[in-house]
Amino acid sequence: MKYTVLTLFPEITDAFFASSIMAKAIQRGIIEYQAVNIRDFALDKHKTCDDAPYGGGPGMLMLPEPLGRALQAAGGAGRRICLSPSGRPFNQAMARELAGEKELILLCGRYEGIDQRIIDLYIDDEVSVGDYVLSSGEAAALVIIDATYRLIDKVICRESLEEESFSGGLLEYPQYTRPEIYDTLKVPEVLLSGHHEHIRKWRLEKRVEKTLKLRPDLISFGKEQGLFNGEINSIIDRQILADREGDKQ
Ligand code: SAH
Repeated sequence: MKYTVLTLFPEITDAFFASSIMAKAIQRGIIEYQAVNIRDFALDKHKTCDDAPYGGGPGMLMLPEPLGRALQAAGGAGRRICLSPSGRPFNQAMARELAGEKELILLCGRYEGIDQRIIDLYIDDEVSVGDYVLSSGEAAALVIIDATYRLIDKVICRESLEEESFSGGLLEYPQYTRPEIYDTLKVPEVLLSGHHEHIRKWRLEKRVEKTLKLRPDLISFGKEQGLFNGEINSIIDRQILADREGDKQ
């Protein structure tokens, strides 16, 4: 996978690509990264990249010429994504879809955003990372990069992805490491038992319990979409019933 980031502040995304697991993935040749500094494509000697919006209103907009030239310099092969609060909401399913691309070209906005004609001419998808407004597209681009690159084969170990949050429509089970007793709390006995089947069942129970409590919307969605197998469905039904009985008493 190649990530091409178009930005006025490449130092923000450079830092991410130079660190930790991402740096290793680049070293191993699994990931490629190219930052395109939009300012290098400005037309005037002051390197102007923004101007006031037609029709009035507050703030500045990113000029179309530097953006268009930067997009052309980035090349034509990748999927072109513009980060925007008006975009399609990003989630784990979209992360999986985008992780299958050969190249993602991510256009980061600043100020009040970008000239609409750039979106009309060049952009395949507008993507939002949530219903809030950030001051910059770089933070949003990093969310998409981070959520997608870890799904690419050989970046992290396969098993880490199998039971994590959102896989199979449930949140992840609670996890514990050393020491066995921390403050007043002990690691659940079953995790010390070495009994794999008991541990598997306990973790599944906890995934359902946690999802019902924190994200009941995911349970309804999973039921609708038929994401759960018989074992999970019966745990869900039993826990809901037990909750109702508990409420009655
Ligand atoms: N005036 C715009 C907000 C601009 S914020 C509006 O009201 O919709 C400046 C830049 O930050 C945007 O161009 C975009 O690239 C980025 N940004 C802000 N919030 C975002 C979000 N929720 N998802 C993705 N990108 C976002």
